[in-house]
Amino acid sequence: MDIQAAVIREKGGAFNLERVELAEPAADEVQIKIVASGMCHTDLAVRDQHIPLPLPAVLGHEGAGVVTAVGRGVTKVKPGDHVVLSYGSCGQCGNCLAGRPAYCAQFLAYNVGTRRPDGSCTHSKDGQPMTGCFFYQSSFATHALTHVRNIVKVDKDLPLEVLAPLGCGIQTGAGAVLNCLRPSAGSSIAVFGAGAVGLSAVMAAAVAGCSRIIAIDMQDSRLQLARELGATHVVNAKAGNAVEQVKAATGGAGADFAVEATGIPAVMTQAFDALNGTGTVVVLGVAPAGATVSVDISSLLNGKTLRGAIEGESVPDIFIPRLIELWQAGKFPFDRLAKFYSFEHINEAAEDSERGTTIKPVIRFPA
Ligand SMILES: [Zn+2]
Ligand SMILES: [Zn+2]
Repeated sequence: MDIQAAVIREKGGAFNLERVELAEPAADEVQIKIVASGMCHTDLAVRDQHIPLPLPAVLGHEGAGVVTAVGRGVTKVKPGDHVVLSYGSCGQCGNCLAGRPAYCAQFLAYNVGTRRPDGSCTHSKDGQPMTGCFFYQSSFATHALTHVRNIVKVDKDLPLEVLAPLGCGIQTGAGAVLNCLRPSAGSSIAVFGAGAVGLSAVMAAAVAGCSRIIAIDMQDSRLQLARELGATHVVNAKAGNAVEQVKAATGGAGADFAVEATGIPAVMTQAFDALNGTGTVVVLGVAPAGATVSVDISSLLNGKTLRGAIEGESVPDIFIPRLIELWQAGKFPFDRLAKFYSFEHINEAAEDSERGTTIKPVIRFPA
């Protein structure tokens, strides 16, 4: 079918709204009319070719919308159902079978390939294939083709434009706390980076009952929002040594847990150094390929843990409905991170995100 998609044609270039041809659903695929899509740093990393997928490309991986057609093998949803889209996974490898699809052996093929995992193409223009199937959805378009495993069915009375960012950025931050670190009530936690991922971690830490939640960033407006979302202490990293300030906020001991959501190797070291003797840091920020982090080995030997996680180790069909329930209960106000843009203003959304004035841009598509 013909769709309108935001196409990146050159490194660092603008999103151009163009007519693109979208393939029909295969047996295990679902066609979605996109209502809204969050924008995530990974989209801009491809635009800028830090993740060098071939161009032209249709990006977007936090889609939400209404099912318009299903492949013949699909029983999970039917046309008219409302869905949130998340990341892809094969469903057959050891990690998928063990309930850890974020570590799917075919994660790259299902999320940052340029075509379907079987090599067939989903997006084309004038007969020329283009990079699509991004996170098996390419949601910066009026319609998307996705795999049945990517979709989470949601109630029709929920606002899809609010739910859209759950599928990547929000679950990455919230899952780091609720699925990976699992802090006991009364723990202390330091969150480095108060963007969409870091602020989701702050909200999740409040849900988990952490008594000291320290947010670290370089923008006072983000730190103010962190306070409103549950941070008990805020640290502007421009105002002095962040490690010392985290230690001061934890009575000198250092934090029980830390979340690193900046992707900056030096900040990863700070997050490690800000822990107490047996603390754990989970690294979420995507650093440039080949970047390394340096940590003190004797601290590791004495019980500190440095680890990473993808997509908050979320099983989307389980975790996203839980986040929606927490939001409905007023305990996880992630809607406060969003600013909405019409599809024609998608480039403005990207600019505001890069400037840091918008924490989570959400693109709305014409009805
Ligand atoms: Zn798998
Ligand atoms: Zn993302």
